[in-house]
Amino acid sequence: MKIPRHPTLIRRSLQARQKELQAKSPVLAASLVTIRRACGNPNCRCARGQKHLGHYLTWKVKAKTHTAYAPVDLVPQVKQWTQEHRRLKQLVHQITQLSLALIQTHVTAKRHKRGRS
Ligand SMILES: [Zn+2]
Repeated sequence: MKIPRHPTLIRRSLQARQKELQAKSPVLAASLVTIRRACGNPNCRCARGQKHLGHYLTWKVKAKTHTAYAPVDLVPQVKQWTQEHRRLKQLVHQITQLSLALIQTHVTAKRHKRGRS
């Protein structure tokens, strides 16, 4: 993202992103991962190497990783919810950059004013 220099353009860019900052679905701050594992039953095919494929969600709380099982029929939805989180996170990042740029233009303008008087 290119940050405009003029405050009017920064505000315009900010407002466009503020409008987009609305969740269009549930939001999941987690990663969807596929894990192959054995179920533990010695008579199961997984004991002979054909491990079960499972979908899991992982997320971190205070540096500790948590895991939750994601039922296969919910995987497409869950995937979309994690994508929605990524979209919103990206937006918040951009809005932060633009907000900081706006503060910068204010500081610069004030400095110019003071310089003149
Ligand atoms: Zn098994």
